[in-house]
Amino acid sequence: MKKRKHTRELMSLEERRKLLFRRMQTVMALFILLTLALFLVQRSISYKVETLSLNFLPAEQTEATELPEQKPECLILWEDDLQGRAARTLMSDVLSQTKVPYQTREAAPLTKRELNGYQTIVLAVEQMDALGESVMEIMDWTEAGGNLMLFDLPSQSGYLDLILDQLGIAGLGSTYSVVEGLHFCNPFMLGSGLRDYGITDPYESSLSVLLNDDCEVYVESTGEDPVPILWRRPLGEGTVVVSNLDFTDKIYRGFYLSAFSLLGDAFAWPVINGSTFYIDDFPAPVPQGDDQHVTADYGMSVRDFMSQIWWTDIQEMAKEHGYRYTGLVIEQYSDDVSEPLPANHELNRYQYFGRSLLQMGGEIGFHGYNHMPLVLSNFDYRGEYDEYTPWVSMSAMSASLQELNRFCASLYPGEKFQVYVPPSNILSPEGRRMLHEQFPQIKAIASTYLADGVCYDQEFEIAEDGIIETPRIISGYILPEFAYLSALLELNYRFVNTHFQHPDDVLDEDRGADLGWAEMSRRLNSYMDWLTSAAPDIRDLTGTELAGATQRYCSLQVEQTVSKDALTLKLGGLVDEAWLLVRLNGYTAGQVQGGQLTKLQEGLYLLEAKSDRIVIGMK
Ligand SMILES: [Zn+2]
Repeated sequence: MKKRKHTRELMSLEERRKLLFRRMQTVMALFILLTLALFLVQRSISYKVETLSLNFLPAEQTEATELPEQKPECLILWEDDLQGRAARTLMSDVLSQTKVPYQTREAAPLTKRELNGYQTIVLAVEQMDALGESVMEIMDWTEAGGNLMLFDLPSQSGYLDLILDQLGIAGLGSTYSVVEGLHFCNPFMLGSGLRDYGITDPYESSLSVLLNDDCEVYVESTGEDPVPILWRRPLGEGTVVVSNLDFTDKIYRGFYLSAFSLLGDAFAWPVINGSTFYIDDFPAPVPQGDDQHVTADYGMSVRDFMSQIWWTDIQEMAKEHGYRYTGLVIEQYSDDVSEPLPANHELNRYQYFGRSLLQMGGEIGFHGYNHMPLVLSNFDYRGEYDEYTPWVSMSAMSASLQELNRFCASLYPGEKFQVYVPPSNILSPEGRRMLHEQFPQIKAIASTYLADGVCYDQEFEIAEDGIIETPRIISGYILPEFAYLSALLELNYRFVNTHFQHPDDVLDEDRGADLGWAEMSRRLNSYMDWLTSAAPDIRDLTGTELAGATQRYCSLQVEQTVSKDALTLKLGGLVDEAWLLVRLNGYTAGQVQGGQLTKLQEGLYLLEAKSDRIVIGMK
């Protein structure tokens, strides 16, 4: 027995050895096959350059159909103090950008006759005394069918007491409240029903008030004792809209436009209808070595993390939401600011990432030969950015982009590289002039929307030299309350979303590295979820397409007439497409001629213009 057992064991040992060898052979063969397959896949990642749905229009085309100048429909009455001037600027921006013809006038007594001909009045006056008895004239004008908006609540005064009831106010408190967030009692704005929106740097901005029952409150402050922030009430044949929020930062235009849109029966304004996600420094050289957060969470080098985790997650997120990316190339991270500017010969990762981005339907634009902003020695960094050196000359600056152009053209044949993103959002007037004069292929600059130190901040507009300015509104993975508020307000202002991220945000503690990639990616994914819920109909566009949409938006003019049963729009500057948001107050849309209307939510519609005359029936 013993012996047999021994023999059996011997044999089985031999068998096991053979088995092991066979297994090893199989594993080896599989490994070779896989490597070969991966090599083939890498080589064959080909892409088709997407035919962009929106390219640029020659300026003559939009100018051909301009409307004649319209007579002012809105009067902004402002007071000559800091707040009054800021309110005048903000409302002037809102009205000019939404194509409402308006006039501004410093608050002083005026006659009934002077109010004739206006359809709306915006009052940005802290001391009602400045208007004197004309306060009563304005209220009479409103009762007779005018539409009055108060930019904020004036200080207490005898004149204010006289009209409190007409403004819908039953009682005026004596204290100002700190508004820490906005709660939408009536979800009249896109995204307003999804959550409350926190306010960064709140201050005592809003007077506590008690309202009459006939006021419709749209927004109130968050917190235990909510203060009404925005309300509307009928007054005779007219309407009164009161904003009890005194913020004049650029981003709040969307709030005041939404308030303005509640005046009267109907209001339409042009919008961009576009959402773009940019990835700055992508493709770019990947940092060598390890990073403590990445090593702790994933046990791999930054290089492997970027291709195996980061890019996979980022791609999946975009695919899930139907978004594409616009990547901005950096050739290398050298400190060179003079020639020679050596080429980067490490092409593998550029090929892999760039082609897979293009394969998703994305776009590639320019960020820089290196990360040195296009500035010369006369540029004042104001003590920020010690790591940056100015270019030694205009020709060195230009040579750097020529090298980048050569590099990108050889990597991505067929791509046009029409979008430029300045490194760190910094661009000097000289750099901008160089782009315009020497790189006519660049049609759009995408920097930042909100002013920040020495950054190049922009409006959505066509610059005098013809370059389209397409600022990015929000960025990164932290996405604090302010990002959501900004996104909400711009969505409702221009029906636009722009966001940028960098691969190396993951390594930067100021940009959220401490949170870890799992949390950072969850936050970006939640933001995409929010955007999809707030604006399911917004178009996903690449950087060039967004610039094309911005050009059409800027060129559009609107003349609107509201009657008892219809809103009639006459459009100027229309070439091939135009989008507008339409607010109907107390009506629903009936038959539409000359366009297609999509209901976004109660009282708010997206209009695609199909002709330069559109009639929207109102029921
Ligand atoms: Zn960058």
